[in-house]
Amino acid sequence: MKLDVDVLRYLSKDDFRVLTAVEMGMRNHEIVPTELIDRIAHLKHGGTYKVLKNLLKNKLLHHDSSKYDGFRLTYLGYDFLAIKTMVNRGVFEAVGRQIGVGKESDIFEVAREDGTVLVMKLHRLGRVSFRAVKSKRDYLRHRSSYNWLYLSRLAALKEFAFMKALQEHGFPVPNAIEWNRHCVVMSLVQGYPLVQVKQIQNPEVVFETILGQVVRLAEHGLIHCDFNEFNIIIDDDEKITMIDFPQMVSVSHRNAQMYFDRDVECIFKFFRKRFNLTFQESTDDVDGSDEDGRPCFSEIDKSTGFLDKELAASGFTRKDEDELQKFIESNEEKDINSEDEGVELVEDLKKTNIVDDYSLPLEKEEDNQNAVENDDELAKRLNKQRRRA
Ligand code: ADP
Ligand code: MG
Repeated sequence: MKLDVDVLRYLSKDDFRVLTAVEMGMRNHEIVPTELIDRIAHLKHGGTYKVLKNLLKNKLLHHDSSKYDGFRLTYLGYDFLAIKTMVNRGVFEAVGRQIGVGKESDIFEVAREDGTVLVMKLHRLGRVSFRAVKSKRDYLRHRSSYNWLYLSRLAALKEFAFMKALQEHGFPVPNAIEWNRHCVVMSLVQGYPLVQVKQIQNPEVVFETILGQVVRLAEHGLIHCDFNEFNIIIDDDEKITMIDFPQMVSVSHRNAQMYFDRDVECIFKFFRKRFNLTFQESTDDVDGSDEDGRPCFSEIDKSTGFLDKELAASGFTRKDEDELQKFIESNEEKDINSEDEGVELVEDLKKTNIVDDYSLPLEKEEDNQNAVENDDELAKRLNKQRRRA
């Protein structure tokens, strides 16, 4: 995927002003009427129209005139707003190579002025579903208030909040540095995802350490929910770091036991297959004890509690969690039916260039019924804010 950050250099202040105007308009429009963009951006002498043309040429916007003349941000446009903000805040100054394409994220190396390399994760919730998965489209049809920009932003906020809270409690996670829109910046972890590692010195020790983290998470009221060889990084000293937190749930979740057992099972399965560790077979004995050494969810003391306070400190609320969870669970229903679908779809999307053009999925017109304010109010309020700033 191309993230041509050079474009950033050539974009003027006015370009960003108009791009921001489109973003603001998207609060209550899937396609923002051109006339509204002009009113929010407030450039002299019809300058908005010229700028719009330039942004369109650089694929930061998508033009739509099917119902009325208007624009929406593309993923690229949204990326640039986040990147620009990060650069302005002095978080990093250059974007480097892409190091990961997940099902719902793109990962890049970024560099600070002093040469320190960090990691930038851009969340793309719903990308895989776009056009390809009918079931999810059906789901979304019934929950039209969901907006992809909003969901990706929520996922990023959640990831940032959890990383920070886990770090404060001594878990081996990357250092959470900054969050903006759908973008999280964190420290670069040295090492390799466990999935790429063919041999280690002390598989038993590593296995125990990893399993210990799953238990410790539960003691803190949390389940990772995607705890597998892709989300564990191991370095040359065989020290492990866990990553990827947007799907974590509380131990009070109604499916907590299942998620916990699934995480544990992933670790057992991987170490058995890859490093030939042997475990006593699970036995269905009467008292249900864990003969094979699997930690037993119900026996874990979870009194350390959910990290609510720490999460709230980053601005992540219970309501945010509920909204995100609804979306994630709708995905899982689909995943159960087709385990590898995600990976294939990303490949498919690449072939058809859908990933490349960074288009944001279109939502249906009725989404606009959730508009909180009308255009006049929005334009007035934004201009007032701008004058104050
Ligand atoms: P996804 O949600 O798409 O799976 P991840 O957070 O798991 O995204 O990241 C995808 C890949 O990018 C990881 O498997 C890992 O190889 C790499 N990666 C992510 N974060 C870091 C990091 N902080 N340091 C080093 N590599 C990372
Ligand atoms: Mg991952």
